[in-house]
Amino acid sequence: MQIYKVGGAVRDRLLGRPVSDVDWLVVGATVEQMQAEGFRPVGADFPVFLHPRTGEEYALARTERKSGRGYGGFTFHASPEVTLEEDLVRRDLTINAMAEDEHGNLHDPYHGKADLEQRLLRHVSPAFAEDPLRVLRVARFAARYAPLGFRVADETLQLMRQIAESGELQALTAERSWKEIERALMESEPQVFIEVLRSCGGLSELMPELEGASTLAALHQAARHQQPLAVRWACLLRGLQPAALKALNQRFKAPRECQELAMLVGEFAERADQAPQLEPASLLEMLQKFDVYRRPKRFEDFIAACEMAALGSEYPQGEYLRGAAEAARAVDVKPLLEAGLAGQGLGEALKGERLKALEAYKAA
Ligand code: ATP
Ligand code: MG
Repeated sequence: MQIYKVGGAVRDRLLGRPVSDVDWLVVGATVEQMQAEGFRPVGADFPVFLHPRTGEEYALARTERKSGRGYGGFTFHASPEVTLEEDLVRRDLTINAMAEDEHGNLHDPYHGKADLEQRLLRHVSPAFAEDPLRVLRVARFAARYAPLGFRVADETLQLMRQIAESGELQALTAERSWKEIERALMESEPQVFIEVLRSCGGLSELMPELEGASTLAALHQAARHQQPLAVRWACLLRGLQPAALKALNQRFKAPRECQELAMLVGEFAERADQAPQLEPASLLEMLQKFDVYRRPKRFEDFIAACEMAALGSEYPQGEYLRGAAEAARAVDVKPLLEAGLAGQGLGEALKGERLKALEAYKAA
């Protein structure tokens, strides 16, 4: 058997970027041989193994055919006869279809190195169209490598357009799509992900709610400030109507934290922008809805999302809101308990005290 380093590790080494995880490809081996060498299979019908010592992923060379069912709609065909070239040709991009052997020689049958040098994201073969997820992957790589000057090759964009028009993007599972969206949002130029999807018609298939949306500037700002995923998702969805927010959240089964923050930004961003002018009662209602007493982090993320939308202009409302939350939180429940209050009465009294605290805060 021959073992090659493949995929992102080869690409990122050539780009001079840090390599996070290494994928290995095994040519000329059977499942039985791998197990005899102590490799542990990852899944039942997926020819991937973990190295007994390093835990890195080793995949048997495979070709694939599309099928209506099974894992992600694919059946895999792995056999010791599958060659390196046959395996590489079914990968998405030429820059992802390079392999390095044990002597450090580069095997690059589809000219990925030339495309790296030309800063081109180019599909390897027409088989690209067999997995619509690749449309999202290309958009994600465009977002990641935008700072290096990469762009999508014209013929690849054309193919992505065809895939989008075929309606196949809608057949992707929520889980597969979200994984790409999540990773794309965490890249340094996440707005490029959306722009590329828009330019190939994929956005109107996947996120039609965003088609008319005016700006990606808040999302870009959130990436510049290394904001966490939920803040980036909320920035992307900012300005949408509640029904659209809900639809997007549910379509991709976004994690609860992302869903909540997007909905809260939708409901309260305008109020936050006017925080210093708000009546204390309105401010209190907002703090109660956020449950800032038990969920201070979520309120902090909310303020961050509002701040990002100010695009680097001063956002004194942020400090004002933090101060207000602090004032409401500082109300001590102990004297109320000592006065014998409990249940609903206690809740009402606490609210009253918090309102007083906010009145004092506003007056100060
Ligand atoms: P990253 O740095 O994000 O890990 P990567 O290129 O290593 O980038 P992986 O998702 O780890 O991406 O996949 C490893 C390799 O497997 C890719 O480089 C590519 O060759 C191939 N690959 C992964 N998913 C697909 C897909 N859906 N279609 C075609 N090839 C794929
Ligand atoms: Mg990888």
